[in-house]
Amino acid sequence: MFTIRIMDSITESAAHPVDMSKYTCHKCGRGGIRLWREYMRFVVELRCYVCVQSKESAEKVARYLKGETDQIGWWIPAVPMDEKMDSYWGYTAAPRSGVDFWKRLPNDPY
Ligand SMILES: [Zn+2]
Repeated sequence: MFTIRIMDSITESAAHPVDMSKYTCHKCGRGGIRLWREYMRFVVELRCYVCVQSKESAEKVARYLKGETDQIGWWIPAVPMDEKMDSYWGYTAAPRSGVDFWKRLPNDPY
């Protein structure tokens, strides 16, 4: 698990308070890690790396792991728009602080 110090530095890097207890994978419930959402979907379903990579091709997963993109197939980084944690920035619209917040999160808990 994460220490308080690391969690504080993660939430401080976002422009607004982030309720990490709500930033969890909607499939497996993992939290404290990077999450993605499906591109152009009205209803936001958050997914962790473990759950996304099982649905996408090995080629697309490899591109992400090599650092060529932060997308995995149709899944884009879920950058929370406000502290209610129910809306997320568009892929190219996310502010620097939001992108930094996402990048500082670990990829998966293992
Ligand atoms: Zn998951």
